[in-house]
Amino acid sequence: MSTHKAALCKVQILKLFLTSARCGRITRFHGVCGLSTSTPASSAKVCIVGGGPAGFYTAQHLVKTRTDVQVDIYERLPVPFGLVRFGVAPDHPEVKNVINTFTQTAQHARCSFHGNVRVGKDVTVEELQEAYHAVVLSYGAEGNRTMGVPGEDLAGVYSAKDFVGWYNGLPRNSELRPDLSCETAVILGQGNVALDVARILLSPVDILKKTDITQHALDALAESSVRRVLIVGRRGPLQVACTIKELREMVNLPGTRPEMEASEFEGIAETLKCLNSTFPLPKASIGTIYLTRNMLQTPPSQSCRNSADQQQSLARPRKRLTELLLKAAIETPGEEELERRNRAERAWGFRFLRKPLEVLPSTDLIRAAGIRLAVNRLEGDGEGVRAVATGEVEDVECGLVISSIGYKSLLIDPAVPFDARKAIIPNTMGRVQQTAGLYCSGWVKRGPTGVIATTMNDSFDTARTLLQDIGKGTLDVSTVKPGSQGVSALLEKRGVKPVSFSDWEKIDSEETRRGEIKGKPREKMLDVGEMLQVARA
Ligand code: FAD
Repeated sequence: MSTHKAALCKVQILKLFLTSARCGRITRFHGVCGLSTSTPASSAKVCIVGGGPAGFYTAQHLVKTRTDVQVDIYERLPVPFGLVRFGVAPDHPEVKNVINTFTQTAQHARCSFHGNVRVGKDVTVEELQEAYHAVVLSYGAEGNRTMGVPGEDLAGVYSAKDFVGWYNGLPRNSELRPDLSCETAVILGQGNVALDVARILLSPVDILKKTDITQHALDALAESSVRRVLIVGRRGPLQVACTIKELREMVNLPGTRPEMEASEFEGIAETLKCLNSTFPLPKASIGTIYLTRNMLQTPPSQSCRNSADQQQSLARPRKRLTELLLKAAIETPGEEELERRNRAERAWGFRFLRKPLEVLPSTDLIRAAGIRLAVNRLEGDGEGVRAVATGEVEDVECGLVISSIGYKSLLIDPAVPFDARKAIIPNTMGRVQQTAGLYCSGWVKRGPTGVIATTMNDSFDTARTLLQDIGKGTLDVSTVKPGSQGVSALLEKRGVKPVSFSDWEKIDSEETRRGEIKGKPREKMLDVGEMLQVARA
């Protein structure tokens, strides 16, 4: 900024401040001249519940857009970053680079991180509302959907959420100790999380040991007997919910070969061909797929006519995904690939049109010994295509069942409106319905779907909504609020000692140091007590 511009800017801020003070209240002013790090005498105090991507992106937009907003992030754990630390697969280090951006936000002069504070237990949302002008709930989705089938509680049955938490060092899952002594594992669900789990189960340990996977998981995987992973879904190959990157990683996973049922792909190649020749494929999201059952069951020419008549199309990402799936499933591989597959000691495959009916017990009724699946067929058109049971069943022998059928947000405080059916906080553009001053962002706002980029856009939207409300005056920021000082006093009385961002940096350094010794990016601490000890050293 030029000296002249900076001087002008100071004058503008002074004028605004004096005008506000004359009006008898210290009030808001817009961030001008890009002085984003200056802290005005009084500011809108916003607190964010949850230090995952949604929390950090919401904070980032707020502090970057206006100079008069002060943001405090409250996080349940002593460590930040939510699922970037505890969800994203250890062999996807590039995804974790977003941590650099979050760190910049946390180190911003008008942003503070308060870890080790569990909202709903250590402090209520009502108390936060008293201390701040606005509260943004960004606490993610820490529950999981259950299958609701007999045998779900048997040993050897896990949710993907817990299994992922185990290999990623989530303290509450550190004692999971999954039994990997069986040969076949069945994963229920065909999304990216299911593929992450399959990949971790089958990856050569030599690859994993260079990642930030926890040592206890690495040791267990080194001893694992799992040689075959089946990834089961209710619908067909055209409805798999994973993305091409994750599928490609499976296809190319060293030491493994794909093992699919060619019969499950009948008609798929023709459908793709006809769609290619009939009309151009639009750019669309992977979730957008418009195919009819007819198209899968009639000869190509007829199906092409059907599709043209109905102006239906297959989105480009879905087309590429299906092509890759077909290639892995039914194409005869070239010599080199054939050799690679022949050498492979481990196998993986999708099983389509199957729904879990029951986890079958071992003879002592303690462990999972298999899974009974209902065989489905597809009915309906376009996006509404649904799986219907044929009445046929199939039993698959397996000692490990991992259900990857979705995460689920939970109610953390009874004072917050919550839609129990959709498991989200009911909101309009991030404004929590019927509660002034309360906002939400991320998975708790829209449900547990979408990648970090989706969460970023969604969080920026919520921040924009909040700033609009300040601008319109519908969010009152005219009164002076105590902010973190008020909350600190409450926490102190309750014996809760928050962890600051610089405290986290001590944990970070220690984890990195422990990792270096083993040739890994970090060795995560698994125990909250140990984290607190290091943070306070
Ligand atoms: P979260 O990341 O869950 O963050 C919520 C935070 O709130 C957590 O830190 C939690 O501890 C905290 N919290 C919870 N309750 C409280 C409370 N009561 N008080 C205070 N704090 C609380 N996306 C990609 O782009 N690439 C990937 O490779 C990828 N891999 C994934 C792998 C898995 C297994 C999963 C589940 C998701 C993956 N995603 C990936 C998606 C991505 O992680 C999400 O889009 C994103 O993390 C959602 O952000 P969030 O902040 O809403 O939730």
